[in-house]
Amino acid sequence: MLVLGIETSCDETGVALYDTEQGLLADALYSQVELHAEFGGVVPELASRDHLRKLVPLVHQVMQQAQRPLSDLNAIAYTAGPGLIGALMTGSCMARALALALGIPALAVHHMEGHLLAPLLDKAPPAFPFVALLVSGGHTQLIQVEAIGRYQLLGESVDDAAGEAFDKTAKLLQLGYPGGPRLAALAQQGTPHRFAFPRPMTNRPGLDLSFSGLKTHTLTCIRELEAANTLDEQAKADVAWAFQDAVVDTLTIKCKRALKHTGYTRLVVAGGVSANLALRQRLDQLLQGMGGEVFYPALAYCTDNGAMIALAGALRLAAGEQDASPPPALRPRWPLVELNPLATSSLT
Ligand code: ATP
Ligand code: MG
Ligand code: FE
Repeated sequence: MLVLGIETSCDETGVALYDTEQGLLADALYSQVELHAEFGGVVPELASRDHLRKLVPLVHQVMQQAQRPLSDLNAIAYTAGPGLIGALMTGSCMARALALALGIPALAVHHMEGHLLAPLLDKAPPAFPFVALLVSGGHTQLIQVEAIGRYQLLGESVDDAAGEAFDKTAKLLQLGYPGGPRLAALAQQGTPHRFAFPRPMTNRPGLDLSFSGLKTHTLTCIRELEAANTLDEQAKADVAWAFQDAVVDTLTIKCKRALKHTGYTRLVVAGGVSANLALRQRLDQLLQGMGGEVFYPALAYCTDNGAMIALAGALRLAAGEQDASPPPALRPRWPLVELNPLATSSLT
């Protein structure tokens, strides 16, 4: 079965073509990063308008890349939330209009389920059940995943998401926008352990997380260096190292706890921050030590993309999911645990 996936929840227009037999056939991504850079963050109205400009050309591009006509499609999957409402509307209108014209179902996909399932694009996908650590720009959650659609929330950030903390801390270090990957790159030049940062919420039981305090700690650290006139490039790199190490260490401690709590031996890490190499290194070590396995999406599928939406839609279609009538409302906020399990578990 051939499924077109459309992702427009934020500032990336992602379109991809996934075949349940052959896997990913084509994938196109347009990032609006330059458009929003001068504002230091995503401007929702500009994001919607730019998605509109890019959607039709990108759909043509992936069909051409795969050498398949639109009439071969069996369904169109689109992100229905969570995300910016205007941006979600552009992708859903495109998907629903095209599906109506072709007489095929349009499937509403949860953006975070897309992130969570992205490692299944891989040739050696994780088996169920597993613990998922979702670490992105808007979410930091530990989920117990029994099967596709069977999700239990184990813990989540009570304030900033990990990616958001990376971006805000990068801003404090004047690294520009978007800052997460830049901060990670700068941390590689840092002197380990020059500054001591806290590990929030690790000294009490539970699986919730908190990252806003680390950002404040960074600000205090920067102010002290400024006051002493010692905030040079090396000091900035040392602060970046300390911040990243604190985030990575905190996430690792909570993953270990979640694995012990569930008794599972597989960990899936997904979302933009799963591209972070320091995090991957630490989690590799953790799972090796525990005799378990850890899975990440390919680097290109950590941040937003159309492939993960096409895949999530294809798995749900293959399990018998139908187009809902009337179409489900778009959900700017949408807890993952509200999703329904698949009707059949043939693919899980
Ligand atoms: P959500 O998926 O929660 O709606 P989003 O779609 O904006 O949010 P993603 O696209 O999954 O988030 O990820 C973007 C985030 O990942 C940004 O906050 C970015 O800074 C962060 N990020 C990307 N690469 C890295 C990296 N190498 N190290 C740390 N953070 C990173
Ligand atoms: Mg983005
Ligand atoms: Fe995302």
